[in-house]
Amino acid sequence: MTLAKPLPPVDAQSRHYWEACNEGRLVLQHCLSCGYVQHYHRVLCSHCAATDLVDLEASGAGSVKSFTVIRRAVSSAFDADVPYVVALIELAEGPVLMTNLVDSPLEDIAIGEAVELTFERRSEDINLPQFRLVGGTL
Ligand SMILES: [Zn+2]
Repeated sequence: MTLAKPLPPVDAQSRHYWEACNEGRLVLQHCLSCGYVQHYHRVLCSHCAATDLVDLEASGAGSVKSFTVIRRAVSSAFDADVPYVVALIELAEGPVLMTNLVDSPLEDIAIGEAVELTFERRSEDINLPQFRLVGGTL
């Protein structure tokens, strides 16, 4: 039996974020008090605890901070994807996301390589942000 890929929970705190993803936008939070940029959305700035946070649309540019190649899926939902890459992507704006690196030759993936944003439509409501190599470094 093949399981369906899991979907992230959407709640009152994350709904705005997922709605932006559905429009093909990756939205971060910018703190007007200290300038810190954070991902994911929170009630408080995780740097200074201020509450004056506004949306900041990510440029989609970033670089590979770390990665691993999954060759044996942890769930049958991902059997068809192996080998696939789980990566930490450092966005040009600062935050680091754990996500997938897709459409990229495994032999070309290295720490520091530049990436760009793409999305995987996983359901009607969930459009997952992912990244792919663009060639070169950021
Ligand atoms: Zn702050």
